[in-house]
Amino acid sequence: MARYLGPKCKLCRREGTKLFLKGDRCYSDKCALEKRNYPPGEHGRSRYARRSNYRIQLREKQKLRRMYQILERQFRTYFKRAERMKGVTGENLLKLLESRLDNMVYRMGFAPSRATARQLILHNHFEVNGKRVNIPSYQLSPGDRVAPREKSKNLLVIEESLKNFASRGTVPYVSVDINKKEGVYLEEPTRDMIPVPVEENLIVELYSK
Ligand code: SF4
Repeated sequence: MARYLGPKCKLCRREGTKLFLKGDRCYSDKCALEKRNYPPGEHGRSRYARRSNYRIQLREKQKLRRMYQILERQFRTYFKRAERMKGVTGENLLKLLESRLDNMVYRMGFAPSRATARQLILHNHFEVNGKRVNIPSYQLSPGDRVAPREKSKNLLVIEESLKNFASRGTVPYVSVDINKKEGVYLEEPTRDMIPVPVEENLIVELYSK
């Protein structure tokens, strides 16, 4: 499965916002954006960039895609699905991304980042409603239960991540029983519940050209 393997902090610096790609480091003063909040590269600080409409829309799309760590082709597929759904396309797109299994494992605190969540899922450490699932893009429905498999419950990375879970902030559409190490996707979120600082209408405009 293809995925981005380059430097992660550069992506945040390019977008000028925290994308939370490196787990607990992102919540500390070691975050690269705290020290160098300007685009990467030799001319990062000085380059004059024309703020055309296209450029603004493109950056918004890249920000969302990079936050969920999805490659362009798959992202477009999500967009097409969002268009076919009832309701507002931009909001639908966010709902689809939020209900991915790797995102939920991260939101429930079982992993410090979406990248780690994806790795754990691929290595067969998680189950959904009691059945093993090793597909990071697996789409969850409200009511689904997510938990590490019995053999994986004591993995250090999961234990450590759950310890820091509260400090990372939770979302209202999941509930987590830290003692049982089990989470439930409670309901489909509305836009105001999703803590993603993106103007999704700009992405819709970009893809509608
Ligand atoms: Fe982004 Fe995290 Fe790196 Fe900060 S530490 S720049 S939030 S990936």
